[in-house]
Amino acid sequence: MEPTLALAIELIRRPSVTPDDGGCQTHIAQILTASGFHTESMPFGPVQNLWARHGKAEPLFIFLGHTDVVPPGPLEAWSHPPFSATIQEGLLYGRGAADMKGSVAAFVQALCQFVARHPQHRGSVGLLLTSDEEGVARDGTVRVLHALAERAERISYCLVGEPSSLETFGDTVKHGRRGSLSGDLVIHGVQGHIAYPERCDNPITRFAPALQALSSRVWDEGDCDFPPTRLQFSNIHAGTGADNVIPGSLHALFNLRFAPTTPAPVLQAGVEEILRAHNLRYTLSWRLSGQPFLTRDGTLRHALTSSIEAETGLKPRASTAGGTSDGRFVAPFGTEVLEFGPLNGSIHKVDEVVAVADLARLTRVYLATLERVLVR
Ligand SMILES: [Zn+2]
Repeated sequence: MEPTLALAIELIRRPSVTPDDGGCQTHIAQILTASGFHTESMPFGPVQNLWARHGKAEPLFIFLGHTDVVPPGPLEAWSHPPFSATIQEGLLYGRGAADMKGSVAAFVQALCQFVARHPQHRGSVGLLLTSDEEGVARDGTVRVLHALAERAERISYCLVGEPSSLETFGDTVKHGRRGSLSGDLVIHGVQGHIAYPERCDNPITRFAPALQALSSRVWDEGDCDFPPTRLQFSNIHAGTGADNVIPGSLHALFNLRFAPTTPAPVLQAGVEEILRAHNLRYTLSWRLSGQPFLTRDGTLRHALTSSIEAETGLKPRASTAGGTSDGRFVAPFGTEVLEFGPLNGSIHKVDEVVAVADLARLTRVYLATLERVLVR
């Protein structure tokens, strides 16, 4: 059996719902150690992290991924049990097949083949895996990166294995992500009997025009790399359940996915300006879960797109669409960060799949990218 496929099956058969790792990282560490890598388990709290490196010199090129998966959901909805790793008609079924145990298996094979072919390679190659990418992501990639920075292990290039392909394998590369800023808003009113509205202050009525103003505000037009910034409400609640009580407060949650053109402080000021303009008494707390990042044309982007083109004949499109990724933790260190992986149409769904043929193709693309960057 093709080694990337064999490893992908092995990993899928180890259930590892966040923050469990299911022994995946120990298994991978054994393979990399046998290939001459220095490997190090770096657990923080309940989260397992693995750091592996071959070579001591700069530049350092790493692959970044996760061994955790989202829960399978209702088991009876799956055509094959989610942790059975069943192959049918050229497709490998299982939770994590595409997001992202297939990519992780391809990383490991590409790294082993690379050091076998080029034992005296320039710079260093590494692998960083966490078991908390799908969860709160507090004790995973971000903690390891800070530990590495403290001992001056500087990362020049980072390729993330998130499934980026949309319609055809190789059609899309992610070269950045939008930022994510969440607001938790309470509008204060005065509770009372609904028959005496003049003695109350109804937060629902007060908030309605502000909600409309916030939702329809144009923050920016986006640019050639980023779509326009958007504000969306995710939750809104007011009321006691009784139909004769004006509630004392309204609680709303909203989120902004934003481009670098409109930084978080500008968005925060803009939201508060609208709230004040509507004469609202409010409490507002913010959570910035990711800054936007962008990797422009450079060594990594050239190497990756050339390798994809050589493998598939496609010129991949560069995109910043979708949710944020652990790449957001790496980019602030000045690292070139790109994401490339298999088709993402089935991720987080029942019957998650990856094409068996794409695992070998992915391995070849990762290996060729390493060679283009580190072998002259
Ligand atoms: Zn993922």
